[in-house]
Amino acid sequence: MIFVLLTDVFAVLTSVVSLAATPFTPGDLTRAGMLTAVGLGMAEVTLRLERVRRRLSDTPHVNLSSVWIMAVTVVTSPALGAATAVVLYSHLWWRAWREISGITVYRAAFNTGVMILSAHGAAAALVPFDARAGSLEQVLALGLAVTAYWAVNSLLVAVVIGLSDGARSWVRLLGSWDDNRLLLGTLCFGAVTAVLTQVNPWLLVPLMLPLLVLHRAVAVQELELAATTDSKTRLLNATTWHALAQRELSRARRRGTPVAVLMADLDLFKRVNDNYGHLVGDQVLRVVGDALRQTVRDTDLTGRFGGEEFVVLLPDTTVDTATRIAARVGAAVRALRVEEETTADLRLTVSIGVAGFPGSGDDLEALLRAADNALFAAKADGRDTVRTVRSPGGSAG
Ligand code: GH3
Ligand code: MG
Ligand code: MG
Repeated sequence: MIFVLLTDVFAVLTSVVSLAATPFTPGDLTRAGMLTAVGLGMAEVTLRLERVRRRLSDTPHVNLSSVWIMAVTVVTSPALGAATAVVLYSHLWWRAWREISGITVYRAAFNTGVMILSAHGAAAALVPFDARAGSLEQVLALGLAVTAYWAVNSLLVAVVIGLSDGARSWVRLLGSWDDNRLLLGTLCFGAVTAVLTQVNPWLLVPLMLPLLVLHRAVAVQELELAATTDSKTRLLNATTWHALAQRELSRARRRGTPVAVLMADLDLFKRVNDNYGHLVGDQVLRVVGDALRQTVRDTDLTGRFGGEEFVVLLPDTTVDTATRIAARVGAAVRALRVEEETTADLRLTVSIGVAGFPGSGDDLEALLRAADNALFAAKADGRDTVRTVRSPGGSAG
């Protein structure tokens, strides 16, 4: 894509120009070499985790490279920061990303280009920096450099995401608050590393451990997300839904509050696959998942039970309210459109069964059975409708 190519060309040009403007000294080269070597060492130590992270998600994610790119940029020059970016990203690509599908040289090159331009952004915001001067301006200059790095990085990534998959939501374009906080944290680490390098390079040794801890904590968060959600729809997976639903039900029993369960199954979904292909089928599952999540409250548990079947547990909700919510879900699904050339005439509907505690059953299994019976009744009644069970073993009405 043109934008990716432009980023790389621009990154190379900027590096050449900045190299010509500020030639580096042998001392700079030594410091940059040392920081890059430490960066390579850290990347080797965290390699296994990096591979797991990459396998689990292919969304852009922050790695430790920006610590070293930022530090080299601050201590020496953005041109040497660019060299560090090339070395670290080549290494990551070669050792961790190469064999994992979806990460091509081209994509790794784009990421490198983004880092290089971000480093130049940081350098532009940084007045000549000397940690030993110890003034407040120096700290503010570092803060500004971190902000500039982050801003250039976010802008370029947002443009490429916007162009490549037409994403319009801010979270998709700019990343979640967690992603941004992590990048900023990594950059601050880079800034501190720069200061320590200027004061006494040996101080880098005690910095390693907190950095490793940071990296591990991030990976654990990602692993947790991957282990509890369904990757296609980003809803809870069946196991997690069950565990959380059990907990909600126990709580309701203790407090004497009502709980409702919706079981929703897409109508004639097999035809969607047959007529439009599996890829469109997957896209449908995604948009239906989104619609479901947006129709219920954040505190409701929304899960994918399997195939084209979804479940929602609604705490503090009576069956009557849940039946109204189910009707709203049905209307939301009916209003969905899949944005593809071939799918203009694709119409989606869903059948929903509703059950509630107390009333339809005493434990989760009984509630699910009741909701499933109600769903069956909805299918038998011609689909695109809601049926509710109001008493144990009672028929759906
Ligand atoms: P009904 O209205 O009676 O529910 O009809 P249906 O066609 O939806 O029901 P059926 O259970 O016969 O078909 C479900 C289909 O869902 C079959 C299966 O190929 C498809 N399916 C299950 N999981 C996935 C998935 O992850 N992606 C895609 N594209 N299709 C899936
Ligand atoms: Mg179905
Ligand atoms: Mg089904």
